[in-house]
Amino acid sequence: MLENQQVDICIIGAGLTGLLLAYRLEKTDKKVVIIESRERIGGRIYTDSKEGLAPVEMGATWLFDQHTQLRSLMKELELDTFAQVIDRQVIYEASDESPYIHAKLPDNQEVSYRIRGGTAQIINALRQKLERTKIYLNKQVVAIEDHGSFIQLTLSNTTGEQKLVAKTVISTLPSNLLVNTTRFEPRLPRSFTDVANRTHTWMGESIKIALRYDEPFWRKKGATGTIFSNVGPITEMYDHSDYDDQNYALMGFLNNSFHGLSKKERKALVLRQLKKYYGNEVFNLIDYIETVWSRDKSTYHEYVSHVVPHQNQGHPIYQQAQYNGKLWFAGTETSREFPGYMEGAVRSAGYVMKSLELAKSRIS
Ligand SMILES: Cc1cc2nc3c(=O)[nH]c(=O)nc-3n(C[C@H](O)[C@H](O)[C@H](O)COP(=O)(O)OP(=O)(O)OC[C@H]3O[C@@H](n4cnc5c(N)ncnc54)[C@H](O)[C@@H]3O)c2cc1C
Repeated sequence: MLENQQVDICIIGAGLTGLLLAYRLEKTDKKVVIIESRERIGGRIYTDSKEGLAPVEMGATWLFDQHTQLRSLMKELELDTFAQVIDRQVIYEASDESPYIHAKLPDNQEVSYRIRGGTAQIINALRQKLERTKIYLNKQVVAIEDHGSFIQLTLSNTTGEQKLVAKTVISTLPSNLLVNTTRFEPRLPRSFTDVANRTHTWMGESIKIALRYDEPFWRKKGATGTIFSNVGPITEMYDHSDYDDQNYALMGFLNNSFHGLSKKERKALVLRQLKKYYGNEVFNLIDYIETVWSRDKSTYHEYVSHVVPHQNQGHPIYQQAQYNGKLWFAGTETSREFPGYMEGAVRSAGYVMKSLELAKSRIS
């Protein structure tokens, strides 16, 4: 029973940051709960997995050599990576006034890596490590009230509202989402909400698509599945076959402006574009999957004014706790290094852990 529970630490959000924080906190004697608004864990890590088909990433996909803290977490969790197939030869479409070409990428391309079995392996592995932490799904935190020696949270779902009391609260939400969907009592300082309202939610506007096939026909055409197009609707696409190269898929991004169409309309436009490059085999697909992230109320909220990518991410104001050291801010948007990326999420969890350890009374 969650109603009227009193816990030491309440983490808001069961994405990479929230689950990693809970995993680290399991080494303390604190009673920790995670409150998650979705019916699933993982947040912006979302692998569509079906038996016998290539796992496809609707959220985070790649990591890089400089993502050192994510890499050491993966080592700790015994997870493997493999290099993204991306040859120097790509399909490039500069404008709709000229035909597409097979272009050569420069030699010095940075290698990007995928996680064997899908990015959700990180989420699953962290979940399995949690022995004491309880995760409550389908509960949205809608209010956070400072009562002096504790914080009271109001959680909402289709059946009504519940209260939860915590000594310490850690938000892992994208900052703009947090300040626009949560009532704070007393209000957070204006200096904080002004920055949060103008903090970009990484990939919040993006549309991700994937198509699964029995055969990687794009390879027959001398291509690797990599497409860069200024014409669209697909702007970027990559071979997304699985680690063993037994199950095949293409995965890419659509121009964000196509969010207003129906799934059927987007799919038709995607197939028309792919047919131009690869011919009629594109219609032999097993399935078409897409995620329009701007429609996802647990990730994205409209901004009060125009923001540019990465704006205000890692702002120093996120490193200061509110409500007399009881309310902390983690999540990739708050990270001073690699904000937006999974690496930023890992680092933000590390930062808050360190801060809680320093404020010894909260954690020891
Ligand atoms: C399409 C896309 C592609 C990406 N590609 C890459 C990539 O290739 N490489 C990379 O490194 N990163 C990538 N990212 C970014 C990466 O996914 C994020 O950096 C990381 O997953 C963020 O984790 P987080 O825990 O900080 O936030 P989130 O994953 O957003 O977690 C926040 C959690 O809070 C929950 N929540 C929201 N509101 C409430 C509420 N009121 N009450 C309770 N719970 C709530 C959400 O449901 C969510 O589970 C991509 C993201 C997207 C969307």
